[in-house]
Amino acid sequence: MLSFKPENIALPAGHYINGQHVAGSGDRLAVNRPSDGLLAGEMTEASRELVDEAVSVADRAVRESGWASCPPRQRGAVLRRWADLIVADPQLAQLESLGSTRPIHDVVNHEIPFTAEAIRFYAECADKFSGDVLPTRDASLGMLVPEPYGVIGAITPWNFPLSMASWKCGPALAAGNAVVLKPSELTPFSTVRLAELALQAGLPAGVLNIVQGGGAVTGSALVAHPLVRKVSFTGSTATGARIMSDAAFNGMKPVTLELGGKSPQLVFDDAGDLDEVAGRILRGFTANGGQACVAGTRLIVQRGIADVLIAKLITLCQSFRPGVTWDESSRYAPMIDSRQACKVESVIASARAQGAEVLVGGGRFADTGEGYFWQPTLLAGLEQDNPAVQEEIFGPVLTVQIFDDEAEGLALASHPTYGLCAGVHTKNIDRALRAMRGIAAGTVWINRYGRSGDFIIPTGGFNGSGIGKDLGRQAFEACQRYKSVLIDF
Ligand code: NAD
Repeated sequence: MLSFKPENIALPAGHYINGQHVAGSGDRLAVNRPSDGLLAGEMTEASRELVDEAVSVADRAVRESGWASCPPRQRGAVLRRWADLIVADPQLAQLESLGSTRPIHDVVNHEIPFTAEAIRFYAECADKFSGDVLPTRDASLGMLVPEPYGVIGAITPWNFPLSMASWKCGPALAAGNAVVLKPSELTPFSTVRLAELALQAGLPAGVLNIVQGGGAVTGSALVAHPLVRKVSFTGSTATGARIMSDAAFNGMKPVTLELGGKSPQLVFDDAGDLDEVAGRILRGFTANGGQACVAGTRLIVQRGIADVLIAKLITLCQSFRPGVTWDESSRYAPMIDSRQACKVESVIASARAQGAEVLVGGGRFADTGEGYFWQPTLLAGLEQDNPAVQEEIFGPVLTVQIFDDEAEGLALASHPTYGLCAGVHTKNIDRALRAMRGIAAGTVWINRYGRSGDFIIPTGGFNGSGIGKDLGRQAFEACQRYKSVLIDF
């Protein structure tokens, strides 16, 4: 029985620094439950001074605890124990689902195993990837020697709090760094439990610290702190730009930026079984209520199958039912808050003002009280410059555009600023590979949409969708800096 009563859940208070809960004395921030809009709990915002304390603790811990210098396999063992505790913990899923948009069924069956597996993947990286021996003159040895940065500042968004934290902490810790992590102020609770479990697994106190608060005070203090040597961020493109600038002006720090997207789903006449394709398209734009960076929110479909595919999608969209995230039977995520719901509403209004037609959905579900459940929505009749086609809406809204030939389809699929992901649906291998080459995106999925459990495949955007990669060997390597060594003998 996964359902639970939110009033029975004890929420972790405040920040987590040096293996201790710290209440803090900054401004109080209310945290609301997306499912019903009610107050879940409160947090204090970490001031610049508290961020300084957390980073200083992390810097000391990573130098004095032996975390950076111990045999890498030992770090791997701690991370594997951490993953085991994550899977076994009775509280983690409830904390995640109470305060976020993630239904408990999805958290238990997907989020928690996915989080644990990401950490296990990086546990394996700890002693498997290293530097290089470089070809040099005779009687010399050239080497590239990796070293951890020291303290990495990590900042995560609200849409998948646990897995985003694992993508940041897994590679950073495996490579021998300490981490100070700031989760989103909208979803602060589960990350604290994650850090408690890391301590139980044997991570030295102070090597993973959590500071709570918004971007303006806590986030920017973390980015600017002189002992933070690298910043790893996931969030919107606008915030990513600010962070990149702050990191440049406060110590020229490297950044990994996983940012927004507006990803196309390009479906050709020869896509195969249209029921299966419709299912892929549907999951691509409705998962987590469309609040996923990788959401495939632009359907670009070839004329020969357009009517049939659209009719199937309309029927599927009508089958969704809202339900609070702590109910086991709920499968559909609410919007995170009223601001996000208003954003969805306003983009749909602008799209309609510029000629868009609503094929299904278009509004909030009735009878969901103060919860922010948005109906899966299809918009058609759109020009390429329509705001619904151009802007990341971050809601369950799919734009539909129809094309005749491959060149036109590829032209519609390209976006002037974003380049996170793309889906290509065709049984013609030549066409699939031409489309893969022709679309500027960090990830192209062919005849599927969405990540697999293959953590070796990195994720990251082109252009305005980001810099660098999460997941994969690349994320591990990006948590190290490389020293060039030349020895004459
Ligand atoms: P956001 O940019 O508003 O906030 C993200 C985080 O940055 C939060 O923790 C916030 O407090 C912090 N922040 C805000 N201003 C800051 C500043 N000046 N300095 C430091 N930190 C600051 O994003 P969001 O609304 O939480 O998340 C949604 C966005 O995240 C979407 O654009 C989505 O596409 C993107 N996202 C991208 C990926 C990816 O892998 N590419 C994954 C998930 C979400």
